[in-house]
Amino acid sequence: MKLLEGKVAIITGASRGIGKGIAEVFADQGATIAFTYASSDEKARAFEAELAAKGVKAKGYKSDASDFNAAQTLVDEVVAEFGTVDILVNNAGITRDTLLMRMSEEQWDEVLRVNLKSVFNLTKAVIKPMLKARSGSIINMTSIVGVTGNAGQANYAASKAGMIGFTKSVAQELGSRNIRCNAIAPGFIETEMTEKLDPKVVEEWRNTIPLKRGGTPTDIANTTLYLASELSSYVTGQTLHVCGGMHM
Ligand code: NAP
Repeated sequence: MKLLEGKVAIITGASRGIGKGIAEVFADQGATIAFTYASSDEKARAFEAELAAKGVKAKGYKSDASDFNAAQTLVDEVVAEFGTVDILVNNAGITRDTLLMRMSEEQWDEVLRVNLKSVFNLTKAVIKPMLKARSGSIINMTSIVGVTGNAGQANYAASKAGMIGFTKSVAQELGSRNIRCNAIAPGFIETEMTEKLDPKVVEEWRNTIPLKRGGTPTDIANTTLYLASELSSYVTGQTLHVCGGMHM
């Protein structure tokens, strides 16, 4: 028996990077996949076909996670197409890094809207089907930076710290309905998001990590699978650090 057989999962921001890795692992475990993206239409169509080839139902939705009404429409469409939502992975995220002295109001607002408001939007929208089913697992992709802070990322760190407070509150509010809510705090995961960084900085980072390597989307996906499945049925309100020991 596969771990997610018969389950319907929404994964935001899965046209590439960590979200894509999560969708692949979930599909391997038998889940029906509804994934979202912001603009990568071609990648999304190709990925839909890739997932379908694994023998699961899969559909990509162009849906801006930071838009409250779009999140509601997305969930309505997924429920109409696949019947319910069992798992929500709030993964979509962006960076607009710069020192606070140079940070514009737009850079602050955009990061808070896409990284944090999106989590509110999607979680609000999936509550109804999850309450009806009296079961659900919500997983929020925060960051180690949300715990430690990081120079040049005040907007990003604030958004990620906010996700942790939100996760704990939702776990308290919905635990009695068998809806669990947890967060994952990746450390340095090598994706397109990190390809923009100076290679020297990347090499320095690798050397400071106890496991001596950056993480992969699959490293994060396997932890997400644990939190999505019944393997973690008594785990809620937690933030799992998946960072090669970078932060203990
Ligand atoms: P990525 O490669 O840049 O991919 C971001 C994904 O989010 C893409 O699928 C993108 O869609 C989508 N997206 C962006 N804005 C969106 C919006 N408004 N609505 C819906 N989808 C949107 O990022 P990643 O490195 O995989 O990171 C994924 C998550 O992990 C983020 O929340 C990030 O903060 C977190 N994280 C990453 C690292 C790391 O080292 N990479 C570390 C800690 C935490 P398009 O392709 O259409 O643009």
